[in-house]
Amino acid sequence: MPSDRSAVPDLRLNDSHCHFLSARFFQALGGEKYGQQASVSAEQMAAELGWEAPGSSDALASRWIAELDRNHVSKAALIASVPGDEDSVAAAVLSHPTRFVGFFALNAAAPTAPERAERAFGQLRLRCACLFPAMHGYKLDDERVARIFEIADAHKGAVFAHCGYLTIEARTRLGLRSMLDLRAGDPLALATMCVRFPNVPVIMPHFGAGFFREALMAAEACPNIHFDTSSSNAWVRFVPGLTLAEVFRRALAVAGPDRLIFGSDSSFFPRGWRRVLLGAQRTVLDELGVETAVAQKIFSGNFERLFG
Ligand SMILES: [Zn+2]
Repeated sequence: MPSDRSAVPDLRLNDSHCHFLSARFFQALGGEKYGQQASVSAEQMAAELGWEAPGSSDALASRWIAELDRNHVSKAALIASVPGDEDSVAAAVLSHPTRFVGFFALNAAAPTAPERAERAFGQLRLRCACLFPAMHGYKLDDERVARIFEIADAHKGAVFAHCGYLTIEARTRLGLRSMLDLRAGDPLALATMCVRFPNVPVIMPHFGAGFFREALMAAEACPNIHFDTSSSNAWVRFVPGLTLAEVFRRALAVAGPDRLIFGSDSSFFPRGWRRVLLGAQRTVLDELGVETAVAQKIFSGNFERLFG
């Protein structure tokens, strides 16, 4: 593997956070921008964004495999990133079962959410339901969320819950308005659910994306909460003086090495896999002097334990 730093040159890499932006994802954006009647093609929307058109699910899966190979990433979690798009990720996982793990965005407040979750965890064998409460307008301690946890529990599945600050690049670029309720992404509300369902592994991306103190409190109270390290973690600018190194130091001190999971938050092509974030995180871990064994847990072992 190309060496981003010297101390741990041969890390195995698994990425817990990649968005699978299928044709359906682009069509959904087109529907929102131009109206459902317009039936704008994925190609047109991709062109408008300046991104590569995804093609079929199989073509996009192959694109991802080539990208993972090029970057020496063993496995990646692919997130179906618009509710109702479970099938595209399921198809990708079916074609490459040793490389992909299937996650799916779910609007827990939608009346069809329980049946969608049943089908995704059951028939489609996806592994993790991804909740975006700030976008879909519900609280994480809502009984409708409990129902999703129950279903995840029954299928030995996981739940990913986006807390804190949220932006969706495609929406911003297209000038689509997002009616976000940032109050809804409260790690302490998530903690009440994690306490009720201690066997469901929970992933809180980006260390709580701004609610860092609350994220740490939630992780202290709930051993099933894991942090993903993904994205540029630009939310640190909301906390005076906070650096990414300090974030890792605190997260390791509170959650320990078994509950940090490497992620990149890669999404569109041609940008592809965000190698620069790997470099940044490895540099931070180097700075902190973490042992190789700990780095291995973060970059692959913990993902393997949860989804291997
Ligand atoms: Zn993401």
